[in-house]
Amino acid sequence: MSLAEHRDAGPDQRRVPETFESTAPATGAVVAVFQVHGPDEVRAAVDRARVAAASWADLGFDGRRTRLAAYRGYLARRVHELADLVHRENGKPHADAILEITLAVDHLAWAATHARTVLGPRRVSPGLLAANHAAWLEYQPLGVVGVIGPWNYPVFTPMGSITYALAAGNAVVFKPSEHTPAVGTWLADAWRAAVPEVPDAVQVVTGLGETGAALCRAGVGKLAFTGSAPTGRKVMAACAETLTPVLMELGGKDAMIVDDDADVAAAADAAVWGAMSNAGQTCIGIERVYATERVYDAFVAEVTERVRGLRPGTDEAAAYGPMTMAAQTDVVRRHVDDAVAAGGRVAAGGTVEGRFVAPTVLLDVPETSAAVREETFGPTLTISRVRDAEEALERANANAHGLAGAVFSRSKARAMDLARRMRSGMTSVNSVLTFASVPALPFGGVGESGFGRIHGADGLREFTRAKAITRRRFPLPVDLMSFTRPAAAADALARVMGLVHGRHR
Ligand code: NDP
Repeated sequence: MSLAEHRDAGPDQRRVPETFESTAPATGAVVAVFQVHGPDEVRAAVDRARVAAASWADLGFDGRRTRLAAYRGYLARRVHELADLVHRENGKPHADAILEITLAVDHLAWAATHARTVLGPRRVSPGLLAANHAAWLEYQPLGVVGVIGPWNYPVFTPMGSITYALAAGNAVVFKPSEHTPAVGTWLADAWRAAVPEVPDAVQVVTGLGETGAALCRAGVGKLAFTGSAPTGRKVMAACAETLTPVLMELGGKDAMIVDDDADVAAAADAAVWGAMSNAGQTCIGIERVYATERVYDAFVAEVTERVRGLRPGTDEAAAYGPMTMAAQTDVVRRHVDDAVAAGGRVAAGGTVEGRFVAPTVLLDVPETSAAVREETFGPTLTISRVRDAEEALERANANAHGLAGAVFSRSKARAMDLARRMRSGMTSVNSVLTFASVPALPFGGVGESGFGRIHGADGLREFTRAKAITRRRFPLPVDLMSFTRPAAAADALARVMGLVHGRHR
């Protein structure tokens, strides 16, 4: 049974195919053929990874840093080769693929360099009650981390989990999206070539949704999922069967606020990049703009002017490529049609030809329509006029998603205040998406955008368990946690507590 037959078949006739093809979105040409790994193969990969995890953990922070540096070097020396594969399989321009790979390599360097400081053993204060003990805290690896990734940033996104999990001392089994298995396989092959002593510390299993579901049930220590909220719910349900903890990086509907005193040209430039680059298939892409009355007209003029110079395509001059997934064009079309039916105006674009969506700007779209409420994941932007930045913030926050966002204002204090109050995991001021390129900053969302964090110190801790150890340094004359304690000891303790804490009201 082919992949197409599998999709079209009813649940009764559905059989999982043995292989599937990855195709170039631009031409439909076959990139490569991959095996569909079933539950037994997935479990075998996790079992191998468990053995590798023990050797990998034994290398310690310094040993792992050296090997991760070799992996980083391997990737950096082959950036064009990998970018070419990303271009073919995902459809994005070669230059955008290079940017994505560069970011991933930079994060890999940060994670490897900072793992010891963030996770290594440290002494903490034992406090009053355990003053005769030394107290230690350290963050230990989980063993094997399962990673399920999407197709839109097939290097940057999964590597945000893979490299931080590795730096924390875990092995990884990665299930790439069925739309980008060649890129996932390349990353695992690169690991084997760069770190041949522990080849099974990074493995790839390929297949469809069922393979991902099998990974959830294969006994991993944690499952890091990036994808849509509906699939995220299925992954959580499967992981709940074995109490496997999860990290959920889900979709977004990110907003930009353009305040009265904003640099309108800079805001427009950033909004167009944030909305249209990667054909809008960016979870932290800008999908909605709220511009104040004072700047609205100028902002709309700047955006439409810039959008006029953009077009999708496969040639060097194209601003972005085709939609990676054919079905996503239907979502974009539905959102545009719904916006227009509800009274919205198309200021630019609005057309879909095959897999290519014209850069689309929508005005006066009601807040209740799908184009404002749901993730579009295409090169579209709604721009709404608001009274002031407070109304902009209110509307930005009135969405179930809460991944990221942007604020444009020349007032540092005002912009920081709006950024803090934006209901999102990440906000950039006077730029878009910048937080993703700062390795020390955590990445993740709130609400329908998920929970847990990759990147930064939080991203390292995400793939560990905190371990607490105390060691008695000397005995006390009276041991409160012993049946030998004198009867008066509890009264003495109550008096000390009164002295130390009782004065607080
Ligand atoms: P999906 O949710 O469709 O798929 C994500 C991954 O889950 C794929 O590898 C998919 O495999 C796999 N999968 C599908 N069904 C199951 C299942 N039942 N059990 C386990 N795994 C399963 O998302 P997309 O690939 O379409 O990615 C786009 C979405 O990802 C967008 O909503 C986007 O916003 C979000 N995203 C979020 C990011 C973030 O960091 N917050 C970053 C990037 C994207 P297969 O492809 O083989 O079906």
